[in-house]
Amino acid sequence: MYTISFIVPSWHYWVNPLKHQPYWELYYATNLRKSYSANEVTVNLEDFRGTAKQSKDLLDAVKKVPERNLYLYWIFKSGDAMEVYSIAKILKEMYPNSKHVAGGTHVDMCTSECLEHFDAVVVGPGEISFRKVVDSLRSGGSLEKAYQQKYLEVPFKDTPYPQRDFLPIEKIVNKELFSQYGGPTGTLVYFSRGCIYHCAFCVYNNPNLLQVRGPEMMRAELAYLKENYKIEAVLLKDEVAIHPNSKISMMTFQALGEAGMLWRGQTTSRASYDQLKMAKESGCLELAVGVETVDDKVMEIIDKRWQSEKQIRDFMDNCKKVGIKIKICFIFGLPGESQDIAEKTIRFLEGTQPEFVSLSGFCPIPGSPMFKDPKRYGIKFIDKNWDKHAHLLYRFSNEEEVGLPFEYEKVTPWGPSFSREQISDNIRQVQRWLEARGMIY
Ligand code: SF4
Repeated sequence: MYTISFIVPSWHYWVNPLKHQPYWELYYATNLRKSYSANEVTVNLEDFRGTAKQSKDLLDAVKKVPERNLYLYWIFKSGDAMEVYSIAKILKEMYPNSKHVAGGTHVDMCTSECLEHFDAVVVGPGEISFRKVVDSLRSGGSLEKAYQQKYLEVPFKDTPYPQRDFLPIEKIVNKELFSQYGGPTGTLVYFSRGCIYHCAFCVYNNPNLLQVRGPEMMRAELAYLKENYKIEAVLLKDEVAIHPNSKISMMTFQALGEAGMLWRGQTTSRASYDQLKMAKESGCLELAVGVETVDDKVMEIIDKRWQSEKQIRDFMDNCKKVGIKIKICFIFGLPGESQDIAEKTIRFLEGTQPEFVSLSGFCPIPGSPMFKDPKRYGIKFIDKNWDKHAHLLYRFSNEEEVGLPFEYEKVTPWGPSFSREQISDNIRQVQRWLEARGMIY
């Protein structure tokens, strides 16, 4: 019997890491489970969500992981990378014959660094690559250093949806995901992966195309969640939940509507009135939209010129007309911000009145255009300690240990910059304003 464990790190940057589910680990674990018979290969998940990072508890939990032939890791966010490296090191010391293979966006972006920490890496999607790894090891062959594949070669349309029985029910469903709506039983799904845009701060456009689930697979996953987990509401974690092509977005709405699911998700301000109306009819409660900044100059610098102020305001008006609540996502600390960015943002919020706001601190994510060419954006220094890479700051208190892992030149191509402390002050000021109005969750 060949044994495999997928490792899920602590997700230390979330206040409640159990609110979200390790979708990609479940997805690839399912893919492997379905590729072999139960007598040939077993797959399980070792889930460290909720264990404090670099703590004795985490170390104790890692030391209790049973021996396996192969440990797999999907590093979606760079903020997890250091912890995953250290878990792999401990397991390797405990079980010298084991093999360790990692994939995920961080691995795609920092391949050479990851090669120093794992026996092999998967670059691109993992459906076929992880199978090649397992086949090679089971047949006594040696590992290649990197298993590379293009996302275009592996459609997401009909691949099996993740089976959730790898984890206990309380780690799959909860009422917190929809607590602002009375707490229906919820979980998360992805009905697409990737994004077609090129915002200069982002790597979640990996792949840089939208791979959408087929309608039958959406229906099958929703039916499975309802039948086995009594799911009443789903969070669509897709980068763009409302596909720009209205025929495709309609398929998603139909699947959700037929299943009688409540849902929320994130999308772009390009969604039309008709799409928003259909979204509402299909059960949509809330849409998050990446406005990012109220400063036109910043919008241009971050390469999001396709999003005009008029477009944002039309999107918000249309959401209000159809009865969908709005969560605006802002980033503070982007290059070119005016000195009064905090006041300008508050004025915008007073004028447009969204229900919720998610305010992040800028994080130069490895692999993003801003990380690759910091000089162009006036960035003097980027901290390569990935543990400090987080974006949700000061939401529930004025204290944070991590975040803003960079510094600007005093004078940038756009004039005087903010110091790290000034950016923190701006974020704290607006977070407390939002908190006082119940606009954060
Ligand atoms: S910020 Fe959103 S719209 Fe822009 S590239 Fe990233 S995922 Fe796409």
